[in-house]
Amino acid sequence: MIKTLLTAVAALSVFTASAAAAETPVERHGQLRVENGRVVDQHGQPVTLRGMSLFWSQWKPQFYNAEAIDWLVDDWKVTVVRAAIAVPEGGYLEHPERETARAEAVIEAAIAQGIYVIVDWHAHDPEPEAARRFFAHIAEKYGDRPNVIYETYNEPLPRHDWAGVVKPYHLAVIPSIRAHDPDNLIVAGTPSWSQDVEVAAADPLPFSNVAYTLHFYAGTHRQELRDKALLAMQRGAALFVTEWGTTEASGDGPVDEAETRLWWAFMEEHGISHANWSLNDKDETSAALRPGAPAHGHWTRDQLTESGRLVRDRLREMNDAR
Ligand code: MG
Repeated sequence: MIKTLLTAVAALSVFTASAAAAETPVERHGQLRVENGRVVDQHGQPVTLRGMSLFWSQWKPQFYNAEAIDWLVDDWKVTVVRAAIAVPEGGYLEHPERETARAEAVIEAAIAQGIYVIVDWHAHDPEPEAARRFFAHIAEKYGDRPNVIYETYNEPLPRHDWAGVVKPYHLAVIPSIRAHDPDNLIVAGTPSWSQDVEVAAADPLPFSNVAYTLHFYAGTHRQELRDKALLAMQRGAALFVTEWGTTEASGDGPVDEAETRLWWAFMEEHGISHANWSLNDKDETSAALRPGAPAHGHWTRDQLTESGRLVRDRLREMNDAR
């Protein structure tokens, strides 16, 4: 009898564990929104997403496939991925249909896996007319899915100031999303490669469910940038780190693990979601994969770089209870 009972309890706990594991991040958190300067989930609870950004879509398109996303979910335990849809340099401006198809491949893989997906307009200069076309299409096609997060302007150059260029750009582009999708989270780029978050926070956008983009590279950006982030949050802004690196801002140079750990602690303390730059095999230290790594997942530890191993281990540790 006791043995039978223990067996039943064991079976029940196995069932409970597998039921919990079967719940995807989107089933758990649902529609995201911004409330009182925080990104919260469908239950009003703060949510911290952790995952990977892909590389510029026109240069590393081979990783924009469902099998790569499936592996990131199954093995790296990501809860969010970012499609970095290139705008200049042979990207959307020249090949709109090709780059849109790459975005859609990642969006549909994310929907199938029940994770969140950042659709990133990967530009340094404002291209509002092209951005309006792109985002209107994405929002019309996918805006009813809670998975989709729109990132309207990756990294504005420092010469594009908030009041004169970047804010007017968002004022032009965001209505093209809201015309089709009234509610999904939008992450708005900020001046100086998405570092001047406190400037945007002082003069915020007049839309609901908007967070502001903060980017850091641990080998270059330290406490002075965390102080800017703190000021932005004090001013009421919700922040989202759509891109960060373990290395210098160039994407290269040594991996700074100590500073990376300070940033991880900071983002956990403040519930800031983040995506690491980047899932690709370029020969630079911020790349998570070694040159020549296969495009469709199933990467061995030997195929990961120092940065890739550090980030994968962290994602598995932190997202296990997703
Ligand atoms: Mg929606």
